[in-house]
Amino acid sequence: MAVTAESVLAGDRLALSRLITQIENGVQESRATLDALFPYTGNAYLIGVTGPSGSGKSTLVNQLALKLAQAGDQRIGIIAVDPTSPFSGGALLGDRVRMSDLFANPNIFIRSMATRGALGGLARAADDAAYAMDAAGYAFILIETVGAGQSEVEIAKLAHTTIVVEAPGLGDDVQAGKAGLLEIADILVVNKSDRLGAEASARALENALALGVEINGNSDDGWQVPVLRVSALHGEGLPELVDVIYSHRRHLQDDRGWAERKNRRARSGLVRLLKESLYTAWQTQVSEDAVDEMAAKIAGGALSPEQAAKRLLET
Ligand code: GDP
Repeated sequence: MAVTAESVLAGDRLALSRLITQIENGVQESRATLDALFPYTGNAYLIGVTGPSGSGKSTLVNQLALKLAQAGDQRIGIIAVDPTSPFSGGALLGDRVRMSDLFANPNIFIRSMATRGALGGLARAADDAAYAMDAAGYAFILIETVGAGQSEVEIAKLAHTTIVVEAPGLGDDVQAGKAGLLEIADILVVNKSDRLGAEASARALENALALGVEINGNSDDGWQVPVLRVSALHGEGLPELVDVIYSHRRHLQDDRGWAERKNRRARSGLVRLLKESLYTAWQTQVSEDAVDEMAAKIAGGALSPEQAAKRLLET
């Protein structure tokens, strides 16, 4: 059954939850509801949080949500994009118990989304879920992804503020640098600052950043990417992180960055939809047999992949 836009706008959590499930499952009715909600979007501030697995992203996101909810009387949404879904075994029992703090808080709406469906499907689902939460009146939406796959990084990159989380003892000194995450960071967090080696990790990041700024010019909008020492577990450095998020928001508002990021997200969503629609339209016109036939020609050496694709597109 379709979820009405009115129920979502009225702040009905169950309705929002059901809508997001429909979005995830690609239920057709959810499209019309999203269309009806769209005029009410544009007020939420999106924060992407990404980094290697085990760096403490979930812990940080949970604490950050509580802090932000306290800071103003505002509602906070969390979208945890998890390749393994924390509810099916990924998280330790202790983590799940801590999560109950969030579930009990009426100002926090937490939702996890598992990797599934076609390529780009998860990015679309997360994006649409964020639009739905936005319309429902969530002031901040935290989108947590593992900074491993390209689509996960893509999701975090499309936020207003992107936080890259690093931690000592994960094997490499600067994992984020290796994964290409430094370039997308507006804020770098070295979590687990209570641990030995955290300071060295922070210094390594600061050095990498100093070099990167010269080489990539990733400070083109005049924002200096700060490196923050945080212990999500002990709540240290969290007030500073909240301050820096607000500073970055002000920076975007003063500069033209705000509109630019909004456009970037809109464009990426549009291109994704176009690709999907064109592919679906093409699929209805070309038979499986024709694809099999061309595949056999490639395998048999009669046509190059390029030539085969061209022929199929011409039909
Ligand atoms: P994620 O995989 O990046 O989401 O990481 P989690 O939030 O699940 O945390 C991984 C582990 O690190 C868990 O056992 C956390 O309790 C622990 N952890 C998270 N933050 C801190 C911290 O600030 N200090 C320490 N010592 N451990 C932390």
